[in-house]
Amino acid sequence: MPAGTPRRAADVTALAGVLGHPVAHSRSPAMHNAAFAALGLDWHYVKLPVPPELFERTVRALPGSGYRGANVTIPHKLAALALADSATPAAHAVGAANTLTFEDDGIDADNTDVGGFLGALGESPRGRTAVVLGAGGAARAVVWALVEAGAADVAIWNRTPERAQELANAFGARAVALPESADIAVNATSVGLHEGSLPLDGLESPAVAVELVYGSATPFATWAREGGARVVDGLEVLVRQGALSFQRWTGVDPPLDVMREAARG
Ligand code: NAP
Repeated sequence: MPAGTPRRAADVTALAGVLGHPVAHSRSPAMHNAAFAALGLDWHYVKLPVPPELFERTVRALPGSGYRGANVTIPHKLAALALADSATPAAHAVGAANTLTFEDDGIDADNTDVGGFLGALGESPRGRTAVVLGAGGAARAVVWALVEAGAADVAIWNRTPERAQELANAFGARAVALPESADIAVNATSVGLHEGSLPLDGLESPAVAVELVYGSATPFATWAREGGARVVDGLEVLVRQGALSFQRWTGVDPPLDVMREAARG
């Protein structure tokens, strides 16, 4: 095929995609297609905009249409786990899946947000203290990742305290009324994406801060950077979770730099 010709589903031997509602702004197709091209893999990755009422029917039709796997994003992560035939411990524990793999004996569910977060963190949290802001879906994956990886203490602050307490109870962490200073701080709220403020005044900056919201100039990232923290941004977490999905589907080591450049471009 001449360079630059758009690829169609019928032109490739394997397909993957991202199921969401909406999914128009996803960077995953650019990231995965760049990785397939860099490795010479005859795969193609597409956006699959699907409303909740069509989710299960669509997923069940994908393997017969050449799909080997799919990423799953809002609002389908719980439904993805529910329909799977098998699931990894991470997906089970978090109660949500972001990666489906279509295998000969059924659909397997994984949650690569967990490993993606730990990979992006770039150092082991073992024996270190952590504070997580937020108690939604992303916070659930982060708290489980930190606890499983041996963090010495994981404190959870959330605007709605009951949700922080629930999450803390589920994973053996600790709910706090105000964020506490820690070695690792994670913003898993949507403040930065949407309007809002976080109670960061007077809080000591961590050694490492992970901002899950995309963008490096969010209030949390700016606060952490000004305090001298090493800041990991949301795009790095996206790249790492995507790389783990890529590896799961293809069995090939993902070209991280290629994926990073495509996601940022
Ligand atoms: P979610 O389940 O809707 O949870 C949203 C969280 O933000 C809740 O803890 C909520 O607190 C809090 N929040 C919302 N508005 C707030 C405000 N004005 N002040 C303080 N807290 C507020 O969403 P999610 O799926 O966990 O996602 C959270 C963020 O992470 C989003 O920005 C998303 O884009 C990002 N994310 C990034 C990646 C990545 O790969 N980089 C992956 C997943 C998610 P309440 O409980 O009080 O409502």
